[in-house]
Amino acid sequence: MQEIKIEKAKILKEKPDFSKLGFGKYFTDHMFMMEFNSEEGWHNARIVPFDYIPIHPASTVLHYGAEIFEGLKAYKTEDGFAMFRPMENIKRMNSSAERLCLPALPEEFTLKALTELITLEKDWIPNLPGTSLYIRPFMFGNDESLGVHTVKNSTFVIILSPVGSYYAEGLNPVKICIESEDVRAVRGGTGYAKCGGNYAASLRAGQRASEKGYSQVLWLDGVERKYIEEVGAMNVMFKINGEIVTPMLTGSVLPGITRKSALEILKDWGYKVSEKLISVDDLISACENGTLEEAWGTGTAAVISPIGHLFYKGKDYTVCNNQIGELTQKLYDELTGIQWGTAEDKRGWTYKVKA
Ligand SMILES: *Cc1c(COP(=O)(O)O)cnc(C)c1O
Repeated sequence: MQEIKIEKAKILKEKPDFSKLGFGKYFTDHMFMMEFNSEEGWHNARIVPFDYIPIHPASTVLHYGAEIFEGLKAYKTEDGFAMFRPMENIKRMNSSAERLCLPALPEEFTLKALTELITLEKDWIPNLPGTSLYIRPFMFGNDESLGVHTVKNSTFVIILSPVGSYYAEGLNPVKICIESEDVRAVRGGTGYAKCGGNYAASLRAGQRASEKGYSQVLWLDGVERKYIEEVGAMNVMFKINGEIVTPMLTGSVLPGITRKSALEILKDWGYKVSEKLISVDDLISACENGTLEEAWGTGTAAVISPIGHLFYKGKDYTVCNNQIGELTQKLYDELTGIQWGTAEDKRGWTYKVKA
Protein backbone atom coordinates (compact mmCIF):
# COMPACT_ATOMS: atom_id res chain seq x y z
CA MET A 1 0.00 0.00 0.00
CA GLN A 2 0.97 3.61 -0.47
CA GLU A 3 3.12 5.77 1.80
CA ILE A 4 1.52 8.41 3.97
CA LYS A 5 3.04 11.82 3.24
CA ILE A 6 3.39 14.05 6.28
CA GLU A 7 3.24 17.83 6.15
CA LYS A 8 3.75 19.19 9.65
CA ALA A 9 2.01 22.28 10.99
CA LYS A 10 4.42 25.23 11.28
CA ILE A 11 2.74 26.59 14.38
CA LEU A 12 1.30 24.23 16.98
CA LYS A 13 -1.85 25.23 18.85
CA GLU A 14 -1.87 25.82 22.57
CA LYS A 15 -3.33 22.75 24.31
CA PRO A 16 -6.61 23.26 26.17
CA ASP A 17 -6.95 22.69 29.92
CA PHE A 18 -7.34 18.90 30.08
CA SER A 19 -9.63 19.24 33.10
CA LYS A 20 -12.21 21.23 31.11
CA LEU A 21 -12.44 19.44 27.79
CA GLY A 22 -16.13 18.66 27.26
CA PHE A 23 -16.91 16.67 24.11
CA GLY A 24 -15.70 17.43 20.57
CA LYS A 25 -14.78 21.08 21.09
CA TYR A 26 -11.02 21.01 20.55
CA PHE A 27 -9.13 19.56 17.62
CA THR A 28 -5.49 18.54 17.32
CA ASP A 29 -2.86 20.10 15.01
CA HIS A 30 -3.12 17.59 12.17
CA MET A 31 -5.62 15.48 10.24
CA PHE A 32 -5.41 12.55 7.83
CA MET A 33 -6.93 12.75 4.34
CA MET A 34 -7.09 10.71 1.15
CA GLU A 35 -9.27 10.67 -1.95
CA PHE A 36 -10.89 7.99 -4.07
CA ASN A 37 -11.81 7.81 -7.72
CA SER A 38 -12.42 4.79 -9.90
CA GLU A 39 -9.24 5.26 -11.99
CA GLU A 40 -6.77 5.64 -9.15
CA GLY A 41 -8.60 4.00 -6.21
CA TRP A 42 -7.61 5.50 -2.85
CA HIS A 43 -4.71 7.90 -3.40
CA ASN A 44 -2.88 10.94 -2.05
CA ALA A 45 -2.84 9.64 1.54
CA ARG A 46 -1.46 12.41 3.69
CA ILE A 47 -1.28 13.90 7.16
CA VAL A 48 -1.65 17.66 6.91
CA PRO A 49 -2.21 20.60 9.27
CA PHE A 50 -5.81 20.63 10.59
CA ASP A 51 -7.74 23.05 8.37
CA TYR A 52 -10.97 23.77 6.49
CA ILE A 53 -11.75 21.43 3.60
CA PRO A 54 -12.56 23.38 0.40
CA ILE A 55 -15.61 21.88 -1.24
CA HIS A 56 -17.42 22.41 -4.55
CA PRO A 57 -20.93 23.87 -4.08
CA ALA A 58 -22.39 20.97 -6.09
CA SER A 59 -20.57 18.32 -4.02
CA THR A 60 -22.73 15.21 -3.50
CA VAL A 61 -22.50 15.32 0.28
CA LEU A 62 -24.05 18.79 0.45
CA HIS A 63 -27.13 17.80 -1.55
CA TYR A 64 -27.74 14.09 -1.13
CA GLY A 65 -26.14 13.38 2.22
CA ALA A 66 -23.61 10.73 1.18
CA GLU A 67 -21.71 10.65 4.47
CA ILE A 68 -20.64 7.96 6.95
CA PHE A 69 -18.52 8.15 10.07
CA GLU A 70 -17.03 6.24 12.98
CA GLY A 71 -16.21 7.06 16.58
CA LEU A 72 -13.56 5.40 18.76
CA LYS A 73 -11.08 6.44 21.42
CA ALA A 74 -7.36 6.31 22.16
CA TYR A 75 -6.26 6.08 25.81
CA LYS A 76 -2.92 7.12 27.20
CA THR A 77 -0.74 4.27 28.45
CA GLU A 78 2.61 4.32 30.21
CA ASP A 79 4.58 3.93 26.99
CA GLY A 80 2.18 5.18 24.32
CA PHE A 81 -1.51 4.68 23.73
CA ALA A 82 -4.17 2.02 23.28
CA MET A 83 -7.27 1.87 21.08
CA PHE A 84 -10.30 -0.30 21.89
CA ARG A 85 -11.06 -2.83 19.09
CA PRO A 86 -10.21 -0.41 16.25
CA MET A 87 -10.58 -3.06 13.54
CA GLU A 88 -14.25 -3.43 14.51
CA ASN A 89 -14.78 0.25 13.69
CA ILE A 90 -12.96 -0.05 10.36
CA LYS A 91 -15.04 -3.10 9.40
CA ARG A 92 -18.26 -1.35 10.41
CA MET A 93 -17.27 1.67 8.33
CA ASN A 94 -16.93 -0.62 5.35
CA SER A 95 -20.37 -2.04 6.02
CA SER A 96 -21.77 1.52 6.15
CA ALA A 97 -19.86 2.34 2.94
CA GLU A 98 -21.40 -0.65 1.18
CA ARG A 99 -24.91 0.53 2.13
CA LEU A 100 -24.34 4.05 0.79
CA CYS A 101 -22.38 2.95 -2.33
CA LEU A 102 -19.23 4.63 -1.05
CA PRO A 103 -15.86 2.92 -1.69
CA ALA A 104 -14.46 0.37 0.79
CA LEU A 105 -11.42 1.32 2.84
CA PRO A 106 -8.32 -0.89 2.80
CA GLU A 107 -8.55 -2.18 6.39
CA GLU A 108 -4.90 -2.61 7.38
CA PHE A 109 -3.94 0.66 5.73
CA THR A 110 -6.69 2.51 7.57
CA LEU A 111 -5.42 1.11 10.88
CA LYS A 112 -1.95 2.31 9.89
CA ALA A 113 -3.33 5.78 9.11
CA LEU A 114 -5.03 5.92 12.54
CA THR A 115 -1.85 4.78 14.25
CA GLU A 116 0.43 7.25 12.43
CA LEU A 117 -1.85 10.22 13.01
CA ILE A 118 -2.31 9.49 16.72
CA THR A 119 1.42 8.84 17.15
CA LEU A 120 2.14 12.28 15.68
CA GLU A 121 -0.50 13.82 18.00
CA LYS A 122 0.39 11.83 21.11
CA ASP A 123 0.84 14.97 23.25
CA TRP A 124 -2.87 15.64 22.70
CA ILE A 125 -3.94 12.43 24.46
CA PRO A 126 -5.16 13.72 27.82
CA ASN A 127 -3.96 11.88 30.91
CA LEU A 128 -6.55 12.77 33.56
CA PRO A 129 -8.91 9.99 34.78
CA GLY A 130 -11.81 9.45 32.39
CA THR A 131 -10.32 11.53 29.57
CA SER A 132 -9.30 10.21 26.15
CA LEU A 133 -8.57 11.19 22.56
CA TYR A 134 -11.75 10.80 20.52
CA ILE A 135 -11.10 9.63 16.96
CA ARG A 136 -13.56 10.62 14.24
CA PRO A 137 -12.95 9.02 10.83
CA PHE A 138 -15.48 10.06 8.18
CA MET A 139 -16.07 9.67 4.46
CA PHE A 140 -18.20 11.62 2.03
CA GLY A 141 -19.22 11.50 -1.62
CA ASN A 142 -17.60 14.40 -3.43
CA ASP A 143 -18.68 14.43 -7.10
CA GLU A 144 -18.93 17.94 -8.51
CA SER A 145 -22.31 17.40 -10.16
CA LEU A 146 -25.98 17.58 -9.22
CA GLY A 147 -26.91 14.35 -11.01
CA VAL A 148 -28.33 11.73 -8.67
CA HIS A 149 -26.19 8.63 -9.09
CA THR A 150 -23.73 6.56 -7.08
CA VAL A 151 -20.66 8.67 -6.41
CA LYS A 152 -17.36 8.27 -8.26
CA ASN A 153 -15.25 10.55 -6.07
CA SER A 154 -14.96 10.25 -2.32
CA THR A 155 -12.90 11.81 0.43
CA PHE A 156 -11.83 10.10 3.66
CA VAL A 157 -10.68 12.14 6.65
CA ILE A 158 -9.64 11.40 10.25
CA ILE A 159 -9.81 14.15 12.86
CA LEU A 160 -8.94 13.89 16.57
CA SER A 161 -10.41 15.62 19.59
CA PRO A 162 -9.29 15.35 23.23
CA VAL A 163 -12.43 14.73 25.31
CA GLY A 164 -13.26 14.88 28.98
CA SER A 165 -14.93 12.37 31.20
CA TYR A 166 -18.50 12.03 29.92
CA TYR A 167 -19.84 12.34 33.45
CA ALA A 168 -18.27 15.32 35.17
CA GLU A 169 -19.50 14.14 38.58
CA GLY A 170 -19.10 10.41 38.01
CA LEU A 171 -21.63 8.00 36.51
CA ASN A 172 -25.14 9.51 36.60
CA PRO A 173 -28.56 8.10 35.62
CA VAL A 174 -30.18 9.76 32.58
CA LYS A 175 -33.84 10.52 31.85
CA ILE A 176 -35.15 8.91 28.67
CA CYS A 177 -38.24 9.80 26.65
CA ILE A 178 -39.80 7.00 24.57
CA GLU A 179 -40.65 8.53 21.18
CA SER A 180 -43.88 7.27 19.65
CA GLU A 181 -44.12 9.61 16.65
CA ASP A 182 -40.82 10.18 14.82
CA VAL A 183 -38.69 7.17 13.93
CA ARG A 184 -34.93 7.00 13.47
CA ALA A 185 -34.69 4.25 10.90
CA VAL A 186 -36.66 1.52 9.16
CA ARG A 187 -35.71 -1.97 8.13
CA GLY A 188 -34.34 -1.77 4.59
CA GLY A 189 -33.15 1.77 5.26
CA THR A 190 -29.85 2.91 6.72
CA GLY A 191 -30.36 2.18 10.42
CA TYR A 192 -27.46 -0.26 10.66
CA ALA A 193 -25.09 2.13 8.88
CA LYS A 194 -23.37 4.88 10.83
CA CYS A 195 -24.38 7.68 8.50
CA GLY A 196 -25.00 11.37 9.09
CA GLY A 197 -28.48 11.21 7.60
CA ASN A 198 -29.75 9.03 10.45
CA TYR A 199 -28.75 11.78 12.83
CA ALA A 200 -30.36 14.57 10.80
CA ALA A 201 -33.67 12.70 11.02
CA SER A 202 -33.36 12.15 14.77
CA LEU A 203 -32.80 15.72 15.93
CA ARG A 204 -36.44 16.82 16.11
CA ALA A 205 -37.39 14.10 18.60
CA GLY A 206 -34.25 14.89 20.58
CA GLN A 207 -35.26 18.53 20.77
CA ARG A 208 -38.79 17.67 21.91
CA ALA A 209 -37.45 15.31 24.58
CA SER A 210 -35.09 17.98 25.84
CA GLU A 211 -37.94 20.52 26.09
CA LYS A 212 -39.71 18.05 28.40
CA GLY A 213 -36.57 17.71 30.52
CA TYR A 214 -35.37 14.36 29.10
CA SER A 215 -31.84 13.98 27.84
CA GLN A 216 -32.25 11.22 25.22
CA VAL A 217 -34.85 9.56 23.03
CA LEU A 218 -35.67 5.86 23.08
CA TRP A 219 -36.58 4.85 19.55
CA LEU A 220 -39.27 2.40 18.58
CA ASP A 221 -39.32 0.41 15.33
CA GLY A 222 -40.36 2.36 12.26
CA VAL A 223 -43.17 0.07 11.12
CA GLU A 224 -45.35 -0.62 14.17
CA ARG A 225 -43.85 1.75 16.81
CA LYS A 226 -44.01 -1.33 18.98
CA TYR A 227 -40.52 -2.69 19.52
CA ILE A 228 -37.61 -1.03 21.35
CA GLU A 229 -34.68 -0.19 19.06
CA GLU A 230 -32.04 1.98 20.77
CA VAL A 231 -31.57 5.10 22.83
CA GLY A 232 -30.18 8.27 21.24
CA ALA A 233 -26.79 7.26 19.88
CA MET A 234 -26.52 4.26 22.17
CA ASN A 235 -27.73 0.68 22.19
CA VAL A 236 -29.92 -0.27 25.12
CA MET A 237 -30.00 -3.20 27.57
CA PHE A 238 -32.39 -4.18 30.34
CA LYS A 239 -32.05 -6.47 33.35
CA ILE A 240 -35.47 -8.01 33.83
CA ASN A 241 -35.97 -10.70 36.47
CA GLY A 242 -32.23 -11.36 36.63
CA GLU A 243 -31.84 -11.84 32.87
CA ILE A 244 -30.33 -9.47 30.34
CA VAL A 245 -32.33 -8.55 27.24
CA THR A 246 -31.37 -6.26 24.40
CA PRO A 247 -33.04 -5.53 21.04
CA MET A 248 -31.86 -7.89 18.32
CA LEU A 249 -30.06 -6.45 15.29
CA THR A 250 -32.94 -6.32 12.83
CA GLY A 251 -31.28 -3.99 10.32
CA SER A 252 -32.61 -0.75 11.77
CA VAL A 253 -30.43 -0.93 14.89
CA LEU A 254 -26.79 0.20 14.85
CA PRO A 255 -24.50 -2.77 15.69
CA GLY A 256 -22.57 -1.12 18.53
CA ILE A 257 -19.11 -2.34 19.45
CA THR A 258 -19.74 -1.48 23.11
CA ARG A 259 -22.98 -3.52 22.85
CA LYS A 260 -21.13 -6.51 21.43
CA SER A 261 -18.39 -6.25 24.07
CA ALA A 262 -20.86 -5.84 26.96
CA LEU A 263 -22.86 -8.90 25.83
CA GLU A 264 -19.69 -10.99 25.75
CA ILE A 265 -18.68 -9.89 29.26
CA LEU A 266 -22.19 -10.51 30.64
CA LYS A 267 -22.21 -14.03 29.16
CA ASP A 268 -18.77 -14.68 30.68
CA TRP A 269 -20.18 -13.59 34.03
CA GLY A 270 -22.84 -16.26 33.70
CA TYR A 271 -25.88 -14.11 32.92
CA LYS A 272 -28.58 -15.34 30.61
CA VAL A 273 -28.43 -12.89 27.72
CA SER A 274 -31.00 -12.70 24.93
CA GLU A 275 -31.07 -10.58 21.81
CA LYS A 276 -34.72 -10.40 20.82
CA LEU A 277 -37.67 -8.20 19.93
CA ILE A 278 -38.75 -6.34 23.08
CA SER A 279 -42.13 -4.65 22.90
CA VAL A 280 -42.57 -1.31 24.62
CA ASP A 281 -45.70 -2.71 26.31
CA ASP A 282 -43.67 -5.52 27.89
CA LEU A 283 -41.07 -3.02 29.02
CA ILE A 284 -43.68 -0.76 30.62
CA SER A 285 -45.28 -3.80 32.34
CA ALA A 286 -41.85 -4.71 33.71
CA CYS A 287 -41.56 -1.13 35.05
CA GLU A 288 -44.98 -1.42 36.67
CA ASN A 289 -44.60 -4.85 38.23
CA GLY A 290 -41.07 -4.18 39.47
CA THR A 291 -39.30 -6.83 37.39
CA LEU A 292 -37.27 -4.21 35.49
CA GLU A 293 -34.24 -4.12 37.75
CA GLU A 294 -31.77 -2.06 35.73
CA ALA A 295 -31.53 -0.36 32.34
CA TRP A 296 -28.54 1.20 30.60
CA GLY A 297 -27.27 2.47 27.28
CA THR A 298 -23.99 1.39 25.66
CA GLY A 299 -21.82 3.44 23.31
CA THR A 300 -18.26 4.67 22.82
CA ALA A 301 -18.84 8.20 24.13
CA ALA A 302 -20.28 7.38 27.57
CA VAL A 303 -19.37 3.64 27.53
CA ILE A 304 -22.25 2.71 29.90
CA SER A 305 -25.05 5.13 30.70
CA PRO A 306 -27.47 4.17 33.51
CA ILE A 307 -31.14 4.93 32.86
CA GLY A 308 -33.03 6.44 35.81
CA HIS A 309 -36.33 7.46 34.22
CA LEU A 310 -38.48 6.38 31.27
CA PHE A 311 -41.28 8.56 29.93
CA TYR A 312 -43.99 6.99 27.78
CA LYS A 313 -47.39 8.33 26.71
CA GLY A 314 -47.66 11.00 29.39
CA LYS A 315 -46.30 8.94 32.28
CA ASP A 316 -42.89 8.90 33.96
CA TYR A 317 -41.52 5.62 35.29
CA THR A 318 -38.58 5.51 37.68
CA VAL A 319 -36.02 2.78 36.99
CA CYS A 320 -33.84 1.34 39.77
CA ASN A 321 -34.92 4.18 42.12
CA ASN A 322 -33.03 6.54 39.80
CA GLN A 323 -29.81 4.98 41.13
CA ILE A 324 -26.93 3.35 39.30
CA GLY A 325 -27.69 -0.38 39.30
CA GLU A 326 -25.14 -2.77 40.74
CA LEU A 327 -24.63 -4.60 37.44
CA THR A 328 -24.58 -1.33 35.47
CA GLN A 329 -21.73 -0.08 37.66
CA LYS A 330 -19.85 -3.40 37.46
CA LEU A 331 -20.11 -3.41 33.67
CA TYR A 332 -18.92 0.20 33.48
CA ASP A 333 -15.94 -0.59 35.73
CA GLU A 334 -15.02 -3.69 33.72
CA LEU A 335 -15.21 -2.04 30.28
CA THR A 336 -13.45 1.19 31.27
CA GLY A 337 -10.90 -0.87 33.23
CA ILE A 338 -10.00 -2.78 30.06
CA GLN A 339 -9.90 0.44 28.04
CA TRP A 340 -7.76 2.36 30.54
CA GLY A 341 -5.50 -0.63 31.10
CA THR A 342 -6.35 -1.04 34.81
CA ALA A 343 -8.22 -4.36 34.35
CA GLU A 344 -6.89 -7.48 32.67
CA ASP A 345 -7.63 -7.60 28.92
CA LYS A 346 -8.32 -11.34 28.63
CA ARG A 347 -9.88 -11.12 25.19
CA GLY A 348 -7.15 -9.09 23.47
CA TRP A 349 -9.46 -6.15 22.80
CA THR A 350 -6.95 -3.35 23.19
CA TYR A 351 -4.61 -2.42 20.37
CA LYS A 352 -1.49 -1.04 22.01
CA VAL A 353 0.96 1.29 20.28
CA LYS A 354 4.33 2.43 21.64
CA ALA A 355 4.71 6.14 21.01
C1 LIG B 1 -22.30 4.77 17.21
C2 LIG B 1 -23.68 4.44 17.61
C3 LIG B 1 -23.98 3.53 18.64
C4 LIG B 1 -22.92 2.91 19.55
O1 LIG B 1 -21.93 2.20 18.88
P1 LIG B 1 -20.53 1.94 19.59
O2 LIG B 1 -19.76 1.17 18.58
O3 LIG B 1 -20.79 1.17 20.82
O4 LIG B 1 -19.94 3.29 19.88
C5 LIG B 1 -25.30 3.20 18.87
N1 LIG B 1 -26.29 3.77 18.15
C6 LIG B 1 -26.05 4.66 17.18
C7 LIG B 1 -27.19 5.24 16.42
C8 LIG B 1 -24.74 5.03 16.88
O5 LIG B 1 -24.51 5.93 15.92
